[in-house]
Parts: sequence; C-alpha cells; structure tokens
Amino acid sequence: MGPVLSALIKLQSVENQLRAAKAKLARCRRNVIIQENQVRSLQNAYEAKKEEIQLTRVQSDRLELELKTRDEEIAKLRAHLNAAKTNKEYAAVLTQLNTTKADNSKYETQILDLMKDVEADEAECANLQGQIDEKKQALEQIRKEAEVAASKYEAEIAEIQIEWDKKTQDIPAEPLRVFNRVAETYDGEALAVIEKQDGKVEAYSCGGCFMGITTESVNLLLTKDDIIRCPSCTRILVLSESNS
Ligand SMILES: [Zn+2]
Repeated sequence: MGPVLSALIKLQSVENQLRAAKAKLARCRRNVIIQENQVRSLQNAYEAKKEEIQLTRVQSDRLELELKTRDEEIAKLRAHLNAAKTNKEYAAVLTQLNTTKADNSKYETQILDLMKDVEADEAECANLQGQIDEKKQALEQIRKEAEVAASKYEAEIAEIQIEWDKKTQDIPAEPLRVFNRVAETYDGEALAVIEKQDGKVEAYSCGGCFMGITTESVNLLLTKDDIIRCPSCTRILVLSESNS
C-alpha cells in the first residue's frame, strides 16, 4: 500500500478516537435529558392528581348541596306528617319521607366515598411531591457533574479534531471525500481490513462485512495506492500489517 492508504489508516485511528469522544459527550448530555424527562413526567402525574382531586371535590360539593336541599325537604315532610288530616295522607307523606331519607343516606355514603378518594389522592400527591423534590435535587447534582464532564469531553474533542485535521493534510481531496462519506454510513468505520480466510490459499474476505474479496483486489492493494472499495459494503479496503 502506498502513502495515501497508509495515511487513511492513520486517519481511521484518529476518527475512532474522535467518534468515541463525541459519543461520550452525547451520552453525558443524554443522561441529563433523561433525568429531566423523569422529573417532568412526575410533575405531570402530580398535576393530573391535583386535577382529579379538584374534580372529586366539585362532585362532592354538588352532592352536599343536593343533600342540603333534601334535608330541607325532609323537615317540610315531617311538618306535613304532623299536620296530616287522614290516615291515607299520613301514609303517603310517610312513604315520601322514608324514600327521601333513604336517598339521603345514599348521598351521604357517596360523599364519604368521595372524601376517601380525595384523601388517598392527597396522600399520592404528597408522595409524588416527595419524589419530585428528591429527583430535582439529584438532577441538580447530575447537571453539575455533566457540565464538568462535558467541558472535559469538549476539550478532548477539540484536541482530537486538531490531530484529525493534521492527518488529512497529506490525503488528496477525493480519497478524503470517500473516507468521510463511508465513515458517515458506518459510524466512523470507513476502512475494512482484508482478512485471509482460514485454511484456504488465496481466499480473502472483507473485515467489515465478511464477503469475499478477489485476489486481484489484494494484488492491486499490494502494488498500488488506489482506493479499492468492498463491492458489498463499499468500505475502503486495506491490507492488514501482516499482508502488506
Ligand atoms: Zn465489505
């Protein structure tokens, strides 16, 4: 292999370092976002519970009002009962009174149940608030740590980038363009080392996709400095140290 391919091999090594550092930076930023999302979803759950409590209270207030009206009705019916002139009238008012009383006790039970729901929901709210406070505190710490880590990774990336730029100086435009394009496709892995297949004479395969590579390609790489790409995966083929 000639100088261009050798330079590409060196560039690949720096490319790997650059990608690794960028991945670390992205991971540390993503971690903060994940924690932020967790806080947000707890806050949403808290708001939803609060709203539920509000709705239950409205419902309970409505029943209380209904109960009050009915209590007034009961008082009226009692007075009516005492003033009944005939047995028939008395019996009719008594039935109405009993029905209203039964309805009221139903309302009372419903109100009690609603109040129990409110209590349970309020306990849940307090629990969520506790979780939110805890998470927020943890998030503050995580944010601080992430900022420190991020600036470290950014400095690291800047340094590697300088090295990367240096490594590209001796590479002509076209091979560099191909390198960058393939690197984009394979998460930085632009080169593939040709591997000799075990037990076979003159049988080679691409180290990236493991498809067969012709002896002719290998011979070209041995004698020339051309960019030869794997026909299957399009990675730039290079020879391993032992082959070249
Ligand atoms: Zn391949």
